[in-house]
Amino acid sequence: ASYHADSQRYDTMKYNRSGKSGVLLPAISLGLWHNFGFVDNLQNARAVLRCAFDLGITHFDLANNYGPPYGSAEENFGTLFKKDFKAYRDELFIATKAGYDMWPGPYGDWGSRKYLISSLDQSLKRMGLDYVDIFYHHRPDPNTPLEETMGALADIVRQGKALYVGISNYEPEATQKASKILKDLNVPFILHQARYSMFDRWIENGLLDTLEDNGVGCIAFSPLAQGMLTDKYLKGIPENSRAAKDLTFLNKETVTNHTEKIKQLNAIAEERGQKLSQMAIAWILRKKQVASVLIGASSANQLKENVKALDNLNFNEEELRLIDGIV
Ligand code: NDP
Repeated sequence: ASYHADSQRYDTMKYNRSGKSGVLLPAISLGLWHNFGFVDNLQNARAVLRCAFDLGITHFDLANNYGPPYGSAEENFGTLFKKDFKAYRDELFIATKAGYDMWPGPYGDWGSRKYLISSLDQSLKRMGLDYVDIFYHHRPDPNTPLEETMGALADIVRQGKALYVGISNYEPEATQKASKILKDLNVPFILHQARYSMFDRWIENGLLDTLEDNGVGCIAFSPLAQGMLTDKYLKGIPENSRAAKDLTFLNKETVTNHTEKIKQLNAIAEERGQKLSQMAIAWILRKKQVASVLIGASSANQLKENVKALDNLNFNEEELRLIDGIV
């Protein structure tokens, strides 16, 4: 059946400015790292994307190698974009990236100009798009001069293939340098994508300050620690969960090691009248530098539950202290 987006889609979502840019991002964005590859169910992927947009989620995050197999999340997204979202292109903010392993040989990984420019060309073809809204360098490359990588981002913008650029997984010092180079080149650098959750607080030690100083927003990935910060693992590891699957980056031992903390955090969430997933998202949004929380979802219902985090974003001192004590 053809898709008509919910006419009330903009009524409840919150939109935050990304740094000092002109771009507003939904407080909650959707990532396509998992659940959108050829190994996954396309009808479910379609339902999740439709549900997201109906909830006011205007930002979809992809990368060249999301799948599996590599490239297949972009290809599936392209198929669904053509069917459902073509008419809404200007209401969407679409991201892709390059920086990790993508194709064999010396030109399909890291941060050379050769890799970034050809990778984005491939991504645009797979997604059936003329341009992306933001293109990221996915991780720092210690062996390529930063000037080369940033220069490639600059030329991608000049070529009209991306409107804005971002970086991901860069430490504060490299972020500062990248920002300077991009500023000198007049390139709109508006977002840094970094892992951030109650179980991984590294960005609190400098990165958030660096971003604020440079007028760059933060988008936080794996906010639910890949599902651990939900109620799904409270009673063991369910079949079909990310931790139960092979070839994912969440293993059973990691979950088991966190179970005690998950239970304690869940009790605090209950006191707040919230699900743990919702508290985990709200806790990230307490940081003013965070423009958006980038979640994954294997079903439309998870998405609906997670977006309700916006119903209670406030924490009192006592709750924050308790959470600090547990994590
Ligand atoms: P999350 O921490 O949000 O984990 C999402 C997973 O948690 C879901 O796929 C689902 O897994 C489970 N889940 C979500 N909501 C619920 C719920 N309400 N109840 C129970 N389980 C739930 O984020 P991801 O790790 O998926 O990362 C999000 C996005 O961030 C990625 O898609 C990608 O776009 C980006 N990213 C970027 C990286 C980078 O280097 N720049 C690295 C990693 C991610 P299940 O299958 O178990 O149901």
